[in-house]
Amino acid sequence: MTSVIEQLEAALGRGAVLRGAAALEVRDAAQTHGLGADLGVPLAVLRPRSTAEVSLILRLAHAARQPVVPWGGCTGLVDGAAAAGALALSLERMSAIEEIDEINRVMRAQAGCILQNACDAAETRGLLLPLDLGARGSATLGGVIATNAGGNRVLRWGMTRDMVLGLEAVLADGTVINSLNTLIKNNAGYDLKQLFIGSEGTLGVVTRAVLRLRSKPLSENVALLAVEEFELLPRTLRRLERELGGSLSSFEVMWAEFYRLVTTVPASGRAILPHGHRFYVLVESRGVSVQADAEHFENVLAGALEDGEVVDAVIAKSDTERKAMWSLRDDVAQVTRDGPVSAFDVSLKIDDMPGYLDEVHRALVARWGSECRFVVWGHLGDGNLHIMVGIDDSTPQSHHEIEERIYGPLRTRPGSSISGEHGIGLQKRDYLACSRTPAEIAMMRALKTALDPHGILNPGKVLPAAD
Ligand code: ZN
Repeated sequence: MTSVIEQLEAALGRGAVLRGAAALEVRDAAQTHGLGADLGVPLAVLRPRSTAEVSLILRLAHAARQPVVPWGGCTGLVDGAAAAGALALSLERMSAIEEIDEINRVMRAQAGCILQNACDAAETRGLLLPLDLGARGSATLGGVIATNAGGNRVLRWGMTRDMVLGLEAVLADGTVINSLNTLIKNNAGYDLKQLFIGSEGTLGVVTRAVLRLRSKPLSENVALLAVEEFELLPRTLRRLERELGGSLSSFEVMWAEFYRLVTTVPASGRAILPHGHRFYVLVESRGVSVQADAEHFENVLAGALEDGEVVDAVIAKSDTERKAMWSLRDDVAQVTRDGPVSAFDVSLKIDDMPGYLDEVHRALVARWGSECRFVVWGHLGDGNLHIMVGIDDSTPQSHHEIEERIYGPLRTRPGSSISGEHGIGLQKRDYLACSRTPAEIAMMRALKTALDPHGILNPGKVLPAAD
């Protein structure tokens, strides 16, 4: 009997089935995209060129009960692409932008297309694909769809889910589901694409997508604000939403420690506002009139300053200055410069945040002392915070102890979530019950069993091990 790898080599040709050193080379390149991710040693890396080839791969793997782990850009932070002993299914050779329809404002592209390339292609037509995140240069459309990525402009344009009109996915047994809807309104039966968006490759492999495009805003105003009290952050946010008439596209809060890290050596950024404030907020507004919007933006910020919500502010006056402000917010790598960190991306009600952070910090200091590194920043308008915790003697056991201190206080705050953006992967599956009810998890299991009866698709991810 021939092995599944030999069958794949015969069916796809050797260039599409990389083994040994060639597989490790692809793995090593992919690993550089994540923050210290370990993808493991895959049995082989498969590089299909078409949906038909993805279907063939899954049909053979399904028959052989062989685990398959889809790979996009491998920029995730929860070990969702860990592929030890599995067939890694890389979509890198399926990267075409197939169509941009300017009348209906949609883009159809293959799943391996890099997010930045898709955004650039939309822009050349005067359109906007508003998904924006730090990993934009490596993340792929299939990856951001499978993880329902969020990013910096969710406040205005929503998460990936809000930009996907249709998609094509291949089920575990090789069945191709063509659901390439291009309509904004389509209530003809179940919305099947939602099964694949955010399910982290456990229910099917996304191969193509139809994305909704928007008008490209003509003006862009960016400012950095300093705020002294947490309670003034949501007040400032709501003021900007109200007074900027829906043009507010980002409200990114950096706690003082994050700001210090991204504005001091060895970071390349420098302090645009002086150190010493408690919160720094990057705000962005995108509108239609360069002159009028700039004046209005300045007036609105002046109001926030006069009313004492904001204590200091700098408005970027050029593209270079706008980029300098954004590069501070994007320089997340600085958070790991003093040693490894455990990364979290919790969501909770805005008014629960100060009490929650205080409780977490006190628990960390009680266990590891004030040497423990605790860095916070996030998308305040989305109720989503990034928290990084670093201790000197980090081990798997200490990581687990940190998790307990981060997730424990969420259990007593209804409506919170252990993951606003990154997803569950391997890292958070044991905590899924903090955020989802037993009935919800049972329904997730029922869907998994129905769509992937042999459990070959990204096995072990998202769902906790059954009792
Ligand atoms: Zn984020």
